[in-house]
Amino acid sequence: MVERSVRVQAIVLSHNNYGEADRYIKLLTADRGKVSALAKGVRKMNSRKAGHLEPFTLVTAQLARGSGSSWIISQVSTLESFPNLACDLESTCHAAYISELTDRFANDEVMNRELYVLVIDSMRRLAKAEDRFPVLRYFDFRLLDIAGFRPQLHQCVQCGEPVLEQNQFFSSALGGIVCPKCSRPESGLTPISARTLKYFRFYQTQPFSKAAAAGWPAALRPEAETILTSYLTWLLERKINSQTFLNCIR
Ligand SMILES: [Zn+2]
Repeated sequence: MVERSVRVQAIVLSHNNYGEADRYIKLLTADRGKVSALAKGVRKMNSRKAGHLEPFTLVTAQLARGSGSSWIISQVSTLESFPNLACDLESTCHAAYISELTDRFANDEVMNRELYVLVIDSMRRLAKAEDRFPVLRYFDFRLLDIAGFRPQLHQCVQCGEPVLEQNQFFSSALGGIVCPKCSRPESGLTPISARTLKYFRFYQTQPFSKAAAAGWPAALRPEAETILTSYLTWLLERKINSQTFLNCIR
């Protein structure tokens, strides 16, 4: 039986203008994964829904079936908002990075509670963190786990030998470390230093509190970003817009 109406708790990932005054809202819900729903009249001056449907807002909403199988947002109210994630361009980019990757990896209308909790936790952490880099990298590693793309950091993905504490290579195509013995100069591998590999392993296995306490040395950040961005881009088969944008405003 098709449900006519459901109540959801969700975080707003993004919105797209539609028609004269409407907007399609992408929601990550607690109970039914990613849902796209139409908010009618939301761009009119007197819309009571508009303020609740800005990206990165945690809401409770009533969804009704429209014509066909699409959802329409009939009621919405804010549970929690993160005003300091929208206060400047860099903050917005950081939050957009989380919502963009979530949107790409989440499945339509399939419950994924782990992902939902990760996204909400990450937005809360971003909103209060002085240093956002650890928040974003922790998000990357947890997201890769949840999506089933946990990179192999302990054994060479080519020969299976344990990875030693020395400079190595990373293969996006193979999803992990390639040891120096197996590396070929023409094979599209990215070098990864022993120190960066240490942080990768730590963030992959430790809870957020420990990762945040360890931080991430400034000198190693560009290397980490290069490797993770190229892995994520490879998995998604396209560029991450918010990351590209962030690099432009730096
Ligand atoms: Zn090897």
